[in-house]
Amino acid sequence: MAIRNIILEGDELLNKKCRKVEKFDDRLHQLIDDMIETMYKAKGVGLAAPQVGILKRVVVIDVGDGIIELVNPEIVESSGEQREQEGCLSCPGDYGITLRPMIVKVRAKDRNGNDIEVFGRALKARALCHELDHLDGILFKSRLISGDVNLRKN
Ligand code: ZN
Repeated sequence: MAIRNIILEGDELLNKKCRKVEKFDDRLHQLIDDMIETMYKAKGVGLAAPQVGILKRVVVIDVGDGIIELVNPEIVESSGEQREQEGCLSCPGDYGITLRPMIVKVRAKDRNGNDIEVFGRALKARALCHELDHLDGILFKSRLISGDVNLRKN
């Protein structure tokens, strides 16, 4: 495993749509392992492959109840609303209140290509939405609630 560099807002790779993963091979496993290590080192609760410069649909999330690895994830159900503070490892020091669903259901593949489903509520739903947005080149700042765009520095 290896720590990878997290790229920052302003890098055009963060604005690109990522490709679906077709091969569930050693290279993918290496990427996922590196992303997990990189996320923990950075003390984040989620990391998407484009944040380490890889334009593939892969995310890892751990909101404190264990690691979730998602390949080619899609939100298939969502309900409710939440307005909470969000930040991003690619936008260090910037925070803002976003509007997200309270509950989401995500369908994805695991690292071996098996179908999986993940439910997220509250923080986990936020993390899932945030990381999946990265795969379409969307940063949380475009989800800020109107009128609340004053980002505070930590
Ligand atoms: Zn992010």
